[in-house]
Amino acid sequence: MPRETADVVVIGAGVVGLTVAREFALRGRDVLVLEASSTFGTGTSSRNSEVIHAGIYYPFRSLKAILCVRGRDLLYKYCSDRGIPHKQLGKLIVATGVAEIPKLEEIQRRGVVNGVENLRMLEGYQAMEMEPELWCVKGLLSPSSGIIDSHSFMLSLVGEAENSGATFSYNTTVISGQFDGASMRLHISESRELENNKGLPDLQPQLILIPKIVINSAGLSAISLVKRFEGLDSRFIPASYFARGCYFNLSKAKAPFSCLVYPMPEDGGIGVHVTLDLNGQVKFGPDVEWLNDVDDTSCFLNKFDYSVNPDRSSRFYPEIRKYFPDLRDGSLEPGYSGIRPKLSGPGQLPSDFVIQGEEVHGIPGLVNLFGIESPGLTSSLAIAEFVASKFSRSA
Ligand SMILES: Cc1cc2nc3c(=O)[nH]c(=O)nc-3n(C[C@H](O)[C@H](O)[C@H](O)COP(=O)(O)OP(=O)(O)OC[C@H]3O[C@@H](n4cnc5c(N)ncnc54)[C@H](O)[C@@H]3O)c2cc1C
Repeated sequence: MPRETADVVVIGAGVVGLTVAREFALRGRDVLVLEASSTFGTGTSSRNSEVIHAGIYYPFRSLKAILCVRGRDLLYKYCSDRGIPHKQLGKLIVATGVAEIPKLEEIQRRGVVNGVENLRMLEGYQAMEMEPELWCVKGLLSPSSGIIDSHSFMLSLVGEAENSGATFSYNTTVISGQFDGASMRLHISESRELENNKGLPDLQPQLILIPKIVINSAGLSAISLVKRFEGLDSRFIPASYFARGCYFNLSKAKAPFSCLVYPMPEDGGIGVHVTLDLNGQVKFGPDVEWLNDVDDTSCFLNKFDYSVNPDRSSRFYPEIRKYFPDLRDGSLEPGYSGIRPKLSGPGQLPSDFVIQGEEVHGIPGLVNLFGIESPGLTSSLAIAEFVASKFSRSA
């Protein structure tokens, strides 16, 4: 079996893997990115709302709160400095009934302690003056929320990582790993071998890599992958859940809003909201649909069912009409869907990002990134900074 050594191996070329690869490369490390798909950003990173979140919702001192606020600032600066298309549109979180007002006030308090500036509580009439198609009894205005062209962002990250010496190996799947007490080994296979074999169980690796540092940023597969790491204590591997979110596009109508509009958060998500993209296209979503029985091979090869069942629109209409009463019948068309890598299941409290290094699991050089759901895109540059700083002394 061929064996090779490596310095820093990043597993997964989603937005988080890309920011991490760029960060290590800029710090002078020799970086190799292994990606199962044929190019970067084909997983969750291209199936999200493309919203730059302000950092409002998350518990005080949580990684989501800290990394979102820091990541948002880094992201706006990154985009401005490099001409990446983005727009700071602002966002209104709306209460559509009096009973929701205490929850909205609680969201404001959270935002303030998290360091989100400029939050402003508006009376219903003020919010509706701003957005004439809107219905609400109160609205919390977040001027620092915005949207971004995530593909341009990722393309720029790949370019900067490569310019600083990082190498990308596409169609390359990490199928398992091993820690023998002294060094790590990653078992690598061409992705097509995995396809042809129709599964992982009997697949033999084609290469063994012996890296100094491994960043497991495999997104939806991050947990299934480390379950296949010999030498990693299973106590440190959290349960994983998958929640699909579908979007519907607004068709045959002018954009009704000029900023982002969010209802109250719901179990598993932050509500079927209105997002605008940089071309002015309006979409509503994502909803929450828990998936069961996800197998490792589908995960590694991103073989999920991303189709949007048109029948789901029957749930969207009443939800959206709570804040956009003039939504016309027949104006919603199926859009796309994405899947959230979650660490808590239905009815459980939302979990934080988990960024797990040697101090937790005892394996030098291994960092696992678990549960990097929203606001992972916003936080990505801050996640990279955080991960790389764990190794700053050895860099
Ligand atoms: C519906 C939805 C809406 C969202 N909206 C927002 C938003 O508006 N704002 C925001 O900030 N965040 C949002 N997010 C979150 C954000 O999209 C994610 O946090 C982010 O994209 C995660 O990036 P990643 O690199 O960790 O994962 P991914 O993009 O999934 O990348 C992981 C990569 O690893 C590869 N891979 C998997 N297994 C292997 C293996 N064994 N070997 C090699 N490669 C492998 C995959 O092919 C994939 O390319 C949303 C998420 C969802 C699902």
